[in-house]
Amino acid sequence: MSGPTTATRLFALLGDPVAHSLSPVFQNAAFRAADVDGVYVALRCDDAMLPGLLCGIARAGGGGNITIPHKERAAAAVDVPTDAVRRTGACNTFWLEGDRVCGDNTDVAGFRAAASALVGNTAGARALVLGAGGAARAAVFALIEDGADSVLVLNRSPERAHALRETLGEPTRVRVALDVHAIAGTHFDLVVNATPLGLHPDDPEPLAFDRIAGAGAVLDLVYAPGETRWVRAARARGIPAADGLEMLLRQGAAAFERWWGRPAPLDAMRRAIAG
Ligand code: NAP
Repeated sequence: MSGPTTATRLFALLGDPVAHSLSPVFQNAAFRAADVDGVYVALRCDDAMLPGLLCGIARAGGGGNITIPHKERAAAAVDVPTDAVRRTGACNTFWLEGDRVCGDNTDVAGFRAAASALVGNTAGARALVLGAGGAARAAVFALIEDGADSVLVLNRSPERAHALRETLGEPTRVRVALDVHAIAGTHFDLVVNATPLGLHPDDPEPLAFDRIAGAGAVLDLVYAPGETRWVRAARARGIPAADGLEMLLRQGAAAFERWWGRPAPLDAMRRAIAG
């Protein structure tokens, strides 16, 4: 495509902040590689603007993504939420089908792809998830859907962990740990960081590995240039580990597929992120 025309579809990332997002970089690269007529921009918006922008852009034939802090508000704004949106209470992708605005939570597909790249299969796994916000909900939902044996949620504030457990409606397999002492001596097949710890180089580690008996693999949903300190600490102990870049890429690929109805050009997206 040479440049935007009157037929060009508009896609937008809606959130606050959005200035540092990689989504415009890899989505515009994907549009070029797939030779589709779209343009992807980032729009900082507040709570009051969100429903109007989301529905307006979709009804004009476009779509987009939603990021912090609007994923829950977006879940309430769309006409047709997927099961993933209903169960996680969060929507990160929107588009138009017929005359209805659809919403999905492709963080679920993104987490699933990143976890399977790291450990192959999470069926039967015993997992520990640190954090109980939006990213944790997507991770726990994917793990439960894929047949994990158990998911223990450890969060700073227990109320939010209990709320996650109730919303997902899995009282048997999803459990809540009230503090780190409760998990001492336990081995987990997969440990997931779904807190923001690691975004800044001087953050404490989300979990010191000597607090548990062992970890089969570590998936940090945070990404930072040169990988996070926690990922490097896991590898230093011989634990296979990955940061959140693959999840970011795969949630974007799943969104591309909702918008364009065709497979995403993953290699081009990966190259765009690598710079
Ligand atoms: P969120 O909804 O704000 O939830 C954050 C969670 O982390 C909450 O459970 C919070 O605990 C906990 N937390 C925050 N600060 C903490 C601290 N200093 N110590 C311990 N726990 C703390 O955020 P989110 O949307 O789930 O995102 C969390 C992180 O995941 C983001 O920062 C981002 O880096 C990452 N993420 C990555 C991807 C990806 O594609 N790779 C996608 C989404 C998110 P309380 O409940 O006690 O407040």
